[in-house]
Amino acid sequence: MADRPRRAFVCGHPVAHSRSPLIHGFWLRQFGIAGSYEKVDVAPAKFAAFVDGLSRGDGFVGGNVTIPHKERAFALVKRRDAAAEAIGAVNTLWVEEGLVHGGNTDAYGFSASLDERAPRWREGRTAAVLGAGGAARAIIHALKTAGYSDIRIVNRTPDRANELAARFGASLSAHSWNCLRDCLDAADLMVNTTSVGMAGKGELDWDLAALPQRAVVADAVYTPLETPLLAAARGRGLTAVDGLGMLLNQAAPGFERWFGRRPRVTAELRNLVVADLERSAA
Ligand code: NAP
Repeated sequence: MADRPRRAFVCGHPVAHSRSPLIHGFWLRQFGIAGSYEKVDVAPAKFAAFVDGLSRGDGFVGGNVTIPHKERAFALVKRRDAAAEAIGAVNTLWVEEGLVHGGNTDAYGFSASLDERAPRWREGRTAAVLGAGGAARAIIHALKTAGYSDIRIVNRTPDRANELAARFGASLSAHSWNCLRDCLDAADLMVNTTSVGMAGKGELDWDLAALPQRAVVADAVYTPLETPLLAAARGRGLTAVDGLGMLLNQAAPGFERWFGRRPRVTAELRNLVVADLERSAA
């Protein structure tokens, strides 16, 4: 009997905005795989039952987890990969021998995006990370893995920055928002992981004067693609990396787990998602 088509999902609440079906749908067509990748809106009260259903083989081979379920998924899975353990959140689920496993590919996505667009980021040792939420945790893990030894977390709510510094250890320090300028001094890399710059979420008058000319500036935000931060960085002649590369690259390891082929992040895929983002913004 022929294998049944494999089905994967992205679950969140809400989930309508997710670009993941566009990305995985592109790869499924490219490889000619008769599988599917579906949006599933799961309310928080139903998430545990949803994860439990996976282990009972309810039709999915695995999927992605997005806001607000990433921490809950971390607590619910039976096995976790090393990145999920370090980050404290799960964005990828799969089933092995009846057990639901959880991984985190966000740190990989960030590193792979910088490898593509600013490969010399790996030579850096000092970074300023703005924000202390979920994206910050993944990016800090990526920076530590790449050998960054002086990571300055700058956050509006100081307690959250302190928590992250305590979690990730001696290479981190926590700072308040009004110390941003000092934290940029001698930084090889600046990363915005806050929602500042996202359409409708507020904006700042970025002062990047303290960054050295070698610095790379990255934004996790990808709506819009060219945030005011990235525009300010380019205006100073610095290398600027948008958040779309992180989104595209984090998807690849999950696709490989569920469908057995390692996809590539190509210009064609990027253009497809950019066109979709532009349609939504219009
Ligand atoms: P989160 O856990 O809710 O954290 C939000 C962060 O933004 C917190 O540090 C918060 O500071 C800060 N913040 C929000 N509004 C602010 C303001 N007006 N001024 C200063 N700080 C502000 O969110 P998240 O999941 O980390 O996501 C953050 C951003 O990253 C979003 O834009 C998301 O779309 C993007 N993201 C992108 C990718 C990708 O693949 N490119 C992946 C994940 C996330 P407080 O602690 O003070 O509230």
